[in-house]
Amino acid sequence: MSKSKGSGGDASTATASAAPTLAKSIEAHERAKRVMPGGVSSPVRSFAAVGGSPVTVREGRGCRVTDLDGRSYVDYVMSYGPLILGHQPEAVAASLSKALGRGWTFGMPTPGETALAEAVVDAVPSVQVLRMVNSGTEAAMSAIRLARGYTGRSKVIKCVGCYHGHVDGLLVEAGSGAASLGVPSSPGVPASVAGETVTVPYNDLEAVKQAFEAYPDQVAAMAVEPVAGNMGLVPPAEGYLSGLRETCDRHGAVLLFDEVMSGFRVAYGGAQDLYGVTPDLTCLGKVVGGGLPCAAYGGREDVMRHVAPDGPVYQAGTLSGNPLAMAAGLATLEQLRDAELAHYADLEGAGEQLADGLREAAASAGCPVTVQRVGSMLTVFFTEEAGAKVTDFASAAATSGERFAAFFAGMLQRGVMIPPARFECWFVSTAHDADAIGETLAAAREAFAEAV
Ligand code: PLP
Repeated sequence: MSKSKGSGGDASTATASAAPTLAKSIEAHERAKRVMPGGVSSPVRSFAAVGGSPVTVREGRGCRVTDLDGRSYVDYVMSYGPLILGHQPEAVAASLSKALGRGWTFGMPTPGETALAEAVVDAVPSVQVLRMVNSGTEAAMSAIRLARGYTGRSKVIKCVGCYHGHVDGLLVEAGSGAASLGVPSSPGVPASVAGETVTVPYNDLEAVKQAFEAYPDQVAAMAVEPVAGNMGLVPPAEGYLSGLRETCDRHGAVLLFDEVMSGFRVAYGGAQDLYGVTPDLTCLGKVVGGGLPCAAYGGREDVMRHVAPDGPVYQAGTLSGNPLAMAAGLATLEQLRDAELAHYADLEGAGEQLADGLREAAASAGCPVTVQRVGSMLTVFFTEEAGAKVTDFASAAATSGERFAAFFAGMLQRGVMIPPARFECWFVSTAHDADAIGETLAAAREAFAEAV
């Protein structure tokens, strides 16, 4: 198991040539490492998968971030998804300052919670009732507990390479940072807990059917990212999501869509709206909080009424429904909703221009890649053959981490910040304009040549 700090992971080619201009970031990271594991609050930020020292951010505006050394980057990390309107959109900033003037936590109901909940119910087809929580991890953990409480069963099926947060029972063959760091199931997760989780390859409906047959009347839920974003971007195969729906119905299990990443991102109504498949429960996070700590789980009313105090499934939170988070989330959803067609058309257009441009840049550099995209989420996979499809974690893991790391370093050096791990998505926001995309493609033409 690779758990190296700072260097390790997929590559050691590192950002050495960029290092001289990152003096203040390096100093900041050295200081941070003394008091925090890896010097970070979440592992992927440490650059462990690509080598080198992480860039420490001073501020972000629009589609750009500036580091401590004063270097500016076109940002495709976008906080791993929440910032669909870019950094500091005016409407969200205004809503936050108003909310700040009223106080920022009460432990009592506020109208903002209901307003955001109503906006979610209006937007997401399957959600009739929801509960606010603070992170995607908490949403997934709570939704699984609810599915178990509702069905009276204990097993959960999940896909290899899908990430549903660092919940014990879901941190089994997980994607994202866990995959990059080679921690398929972390020490500290009891075997008895992991034993309740059954894993299947993504996009393999037959494997799901077999898992249900192997554990008759024992499966509480099938949890899935309807658009996988944590093994890099992997779209659902045609008929996969509807097949999951039918299979769950046949076996009386809950279908749980984890839309923490895809919710309000691939469409205003999420992947369930885009693909027309209705889950029983949905996890939301990231965009729903407009960049503040907020997430939610929700779904069919008869299932959700099992949550305390309406029902016996206990789940609570001191800061859940936090007024600042509600204000940022609501302002973000209102912006998206009020110009829904224009915003999602812009995001689609920018995503397409970027993906097409990246394919062309790689081809002209003689660098074989596969660019996969749904809307404004995309991943460049360093495949052996140009255009070879990535359909599951096995095919994602077979792509080159070393070539990715070289490309990452090349982009960073040229002022483009992409997520520092090959199993992540780039996120395009409404603030990514033609100039930013042009700069990105110019950088990519050179960086691909260094990643052949
Ligand atoms: N589910 C999915 C699909 C995610 O992508 C993530 C985080 O990236 C999570 C759950 C966990 O969310 P959080 O990091 O807010 O705990």
